[in-house]
Amino acid sequence: MGASRKFDVVIAGAGPAGLATALFLVKNRPSLAGRIVAIEKSAHPRFKVCAGGLIPKTMLALEELGIALDVPKVEVIRGEAATPVGEVNLSRGGDVLATVIRRDLFDAMLAREAAEAGVEIVQSDRVLDVVQNAESVRVITERSIFEAQILVGADGSGSRVRRAVFGARKETIGRALMTDIAVDPARTPEFVEQRYRFDFRCVSHGVNGYSWSFPCIIGGAPHLNVGIYDQRPRELGEEGGEQKRMIAELVAAFPELPLDGLTRRATRWHSFPIRWFDARDSYARGRVILAGDAAGVDPLMGEGISCAFEHGKLAANAIGKFIDGDSGAIRAYDRALHEGAVGKKLSKLAFAARHFYSPHSRLFFRIAGVSRRAQEIGVDWYNGARHLDEMPTHRLVARWARAVLLGDSLR
Ligand SMILES: Cc1cc2nc3c(=O)[nH]c(=O)nc-3n(C[C@H](O)[C@H](O)[C@H](O)COP(=O)(O)OP(=O)(O)OC[C@H]3O[C@@H](n4cnc5c(N)ncnc54)[C@H](O)[C@@H]3O)c2cc1C
Repeated sequence: MGASRKFDVVIAGAGPAGLATALFLVKNRPSLAGRIVAIEKSAHPRFKVCAGGLIPKTMLALEELGIALDVPKVEVIRGEAATPVGEVNLSRGGDVLATVIRRDLFDAMLAREAAEAGVEIVQSDRVLDVVQNAESVRVITERSIFEAQILVGADGSGSRVRRAVFGARKETIGRALMTDIAVDPARTPEFVEQRYRFDFRCVSHGVNGYSWSFPCIIGGAPHLNVGIYDQRPRELGEEGGEQKRMIAELVAAFPELPLDGLTRRATRWHSFPIRWFDARDSYARGRVILAGDAAGVDPLMGEGISCAFEHGKLAANAIGKFIDGDSGAIRAYDRALHEGAVGKKLSKLAFAARHFYSPHSRLFFRIAGVSRRAQEIGVDWYNGARHLDEMPTHRLVARWARAVLLGDSLR
């Protein structure tokens, strides 16, 4: 291994969090072009286990970065959720609820944009260790050593950076598994009606999550991506047993789909961890900060792409200030992740997860089902439509109360 390569910023992981950080950095400070490196263990386009649902919040972030979504996509404008106490209509009068992409092409598009903006992307190299001192941080990879003023750990749920600098903690890791089914779009409601479906009935059987079915395009052909998320898979019993239980619940959620091959392992499926936000965690230490799944994302739904972009934006602001000599900028990043809009949203989702995924879940699903107007506000808040998720809590609660009591609409 030769001498270390020097950059201002090293980013571990070129997924949405790492690439969003890089893209916001060069957008804010074009002078950083050529001084940022992202290290990726795979090579784009690489497969990523993910349903690829981009909520409107993510679309706003892409717009802010000036990136056109130049990959095959399906726009969803209708939605429904089955709960242990009945059906919920998630549609918002024709508004796009989600844009479904495939992560191999989406992430490769982001990587291309970042490279064109002057970010060096080192692929097929894995971060192994991190050593920091008062002057710099050294990142040891399989093939090289990188030295920088600051390191962003954006290397996903199993983050090596997190383990090296913050220690390991497994209690906040959920799991989602998924499969793709080729379908005839003319006979599939998800395509005919541009609809996605969620099913939370598995909560009654001990799965802290839901099953989903999303329309998507793979290799030019219409498919359904179906899967199941569990925020606390360990509670399902013996090691490995959780996947069997999750598959059984997924098959039960969509009996009309040809999913029986999953149980026999005749159908290919993929499973992957999702680290969720826990307010007790810290996200900055010395010259190292965490972003995206490495930090922790939405505990309720396991949605993490919008978070990756929000973290990326905050990280880029903090890094800019740090490079300018503001030594408090790193601690301020940690505070922003806890107390800023994204931290507050994730705390509310953690609160919701504690109640919806609890022995009293039926009561909470019943309360959530009381007012259609309140549900609409909930959907818009979750999706970040019209920046509703950035509204101060007291105003949001007031709006919610007016919706429930007076039937006020959001529009
Ligand atoms: C089945 C499933 C379905 C999901 N569906 C959705 C959805 O519909 N919508 C949504 O918003 N979210 C969804 N998520 C969550 C979403 O996939 C993640 O939140 C998102 O990928 C987080 O982005 P990230 O950049 O933080 O991490 P990642 O996307 O995991 O990117 C991390 C990158 O770091 C690289 N890396 C890892 N270790 C190293 C290392 N040591 N050195 C160098 N590189 C490394 C990886 O190869 C990867 O490219 C889903 C997750 C799962 C498991």
